[in-house]
This record gives sequence, C-alpha cells and structure tokens, in this order.
Amino acid sequence: MSWIWLYLPMLWLAMVAAIVLWYRRDIGRLWREPVLKRPVLVLESDDWGAGPPVQAAALDNIAAVLGRYRDSAGRRPVVSLAVVLAVPDGRAIGGDATSYRKVCLDEPPLAPVLDALKRGEAEGTFSLQLHGLEHFWPETLMASVDPQVQAWLREPLPASTERLPTHLQSRWTDASSLPSVPLTDEAVHRAVKEEIEVYVRTIGRAPIVVVPPTFVWTPAVERAWAAHGVECVITPGCRYTVRVADGTSVTDGAQFANGDSAGGVTYLVRYDYFEPARGRDANYALRALRRATAEGRPCVLENHRVNFCGDAAVRADSLHELEKLVAGTLRLMPTARFLSSADLYRVMTTRDRQWLREGFGERFPFLWQRLRNTGRLWKLLKLSGAAIPVELLMALKSHATTHPYD
Ligand SMILES: [Zn+2]
Repeated sequence: MSWIWLYLPMLWLAMVAAIVLWYRRDIGRLWREPVLKRPVLVLESDDWGAGPPVQAAALDNIAAVLGRYRDSAGRRPVVSLAVVLAVPDGRAIGGDATSYRKVCLDEPPLAPVLDALKRGEAEGTFSLQLHGLEHFWPETLMASVDPQVQAWLREPLPASTERLPTHLQSRWTDASSLPSVPLTDEAVHRAVKEEIEVYVRTIGRAPIVVVPPTFVWTPAVERAWAAHGVECVITPGCRYTVRVADGTSVTDGAQFANGDSAGGVTYLVRYDYFEPARGRDANYALRALRRATAEGRPCVLENHRVNFCGDAAVRADSLHELEKLVAGTLRLMPTARFLSSADLYRVMTTRDRQWLREGFGERFPFLWQRLRNTGRLWKLLKLSGAAIPVELLMALKSHATTHPYD
C-alpha cells in the first residue's frame, strides 16, 4: 500500500494544475491588470444631455457638492458624464410620418442643459464622454409596432429614454424584433461618423472615452469609433452584442481587464454601483472602494441621471449620498484620488509609475486579494489546499507591515 503515498502528491499536483488550467483566462486577467499605488475613485454617471430640462439644475447641484471638496493632492472630485446628443423631435415626426427627426443638444430648447454641462467641465467637476448620438437606434424605434413607443416618439420634449422598453434603449443592435440582428458595418460607420461630428460640434472637441448605451455593442462599432479618434471604451468587464428572445443581453465571450487593448481601443471596467435611488448608497459604494483598494484596482462606479432628476425627495437623497460618498472617501482613505475615466485611461495606457506598483513583490499581495475575490476559483484553491501556504505567508507578512495605504 506504500506506493499510494508516493502517488498522492502527484495526484494533488495534477489536481491543482487542472484547476489553474481551467481558470487560466481569469487568472491571466487578474494578473495582467495594473496594480494601483493608492485608492482611486472614478464616478461615472450616464444618460446626461438631450432630454429633460430638469437636468440643468441637477447638474449645477452636483457641481456644487463636488466643488466643496479637494483630495490631498488638491484635486476636485470629478464625475465623468456620458452624454447623449439628441432625442426625437416629436412635433416634427408627428402624425403618420415615417421619417425620423431629432432635436440636438446644441439646439435652443436644450441650451440650459448644455450650458450646465460645459460650466461643470470648465470648473473641473465634470469630465464629458460620449454615450451616443441617441440612446437608441432610430430606425428600430420608427419600425416598432408597439403603440406606446410610437406615442413616445411623437411626444413633445423632454423625451426621457428611460421610459422606453429596456431592449429598445440599446443603440448598436437592431432590436425591432427579438432576438436582435446585427446592424450592417456600413450603417454602423455612417452612424458613428455622424455622432462624432455632432459631439465635436456640441462639446467643442472629439470624444476620447465612450460608454456604449446599455453595454450592447460590437467589434464593428469599436472599429468605427477607433477610426474616428475614440481611444477608450467603458465596459462591464465583458461585451454584450445581442438582445435575445426575452430582451436580455448576451455576451460574445470577450472579457476585459482594466488596460486591455484590442482593435485600436483600450478598455476600462466598471467595478460596482453608486445608485442611491436603487438602494446602492454611499455606504454601499464605500464598501466597494475598500474592496477595490485592497485589490489594487480603481473603484469605477456606475451611476445614472435618474438619481438626480427624479422627484424632489429622491433628488435630495441622492445629493446627500453623493456628499457622504465624497466626504467618506476622504475621511476613510486620506490618500485617495478622484480621477475621471479619461485620467484613468491615461494612467493605464502610459503605465505611469507614479500611479502603478511595479515588481512582483509589490504587486503580489494585491493580486492575491483579487484571487480571494474570485468566488468559485478561490473556493477550489482553498478546498484543494493549494491556497494554504500562501495564506499563511500573507498572514505572517500582514503582522509585520502596516496597511500599505496609510
Ligand atoms: Zn445609458
């Protein structure tokens, strides 16, 4: 029976190797993602621009809260706003007309909103990025047989896209019937060219960062964006390309880490949420910041304008939570920095040594923490015993050192 004891270590090694092999892509992703030297909070809010006039006051209120704070480097907290450039012109579409018409953000009815966006950007509290010319594919809406969608298209402003069925809020797939079908490359190129032109005309410069509406987009859309100067795409860590029969979105299998590049664009990954109107408040966001910081990752938080444009109580609560988040970040992590998505993109692509840890020894505790938060992979590493030696080593080390951010 003694031969069993010879083979057991080999069996164990084979089992660990099989786990690593099976999860090699996940391990590769967490390994190659840069490790930050200090806590970084990136607050992103989507859907601003063409739409309800109440946004102008909401934007000023957000800017007023952010303007009261500075991080230890003297930087203002900044929110990266994903901008929509047009909504339907209900009056012009009218009656039984079949051709789509739009009102753009740089037209007189929407001037107060555009002014507020530009004012915040000039003050350094907003960083503007592209969401889309529209938050939908116009031909899809025009072809919809849903009477509520047809009525929505013909309403006078404000045309809140949040009221559309979710699958119709996707811009980069034809969801007029489900499952959705891809748009032609030619249609994509034409639409991207137009949205970049309108962005330049409206904002005064070309966009560097884009946030795909509802996170449904394709490599063809990325190629078109890259051809028109877009450098960075915000993702949820994967790429949804299609709306299936029940309207939900499905990925093409691609998975991204912060700083990954392909086809002329670099990807950033949203980490968690700050949506006070849906219960993801400042305390929730601060917990995410602690987790991201322990992993050496930027805490990129997703937010939407609805938090700040709803009824009075929701608006007031969201502003209160925003202040709590900013003040809490500075109190809990005095070395934290507020970055825009464009700032973070530059840190990732230039591999800036001022911001990133280098060398295996310096990076390893953060990579290990990422591994601890992988769910099933971590469970397998623990059950197999493979994690135990490193866990003991880390415990010894944490006794010997202070917290790396203090
Ligand atoms: Zn959106």
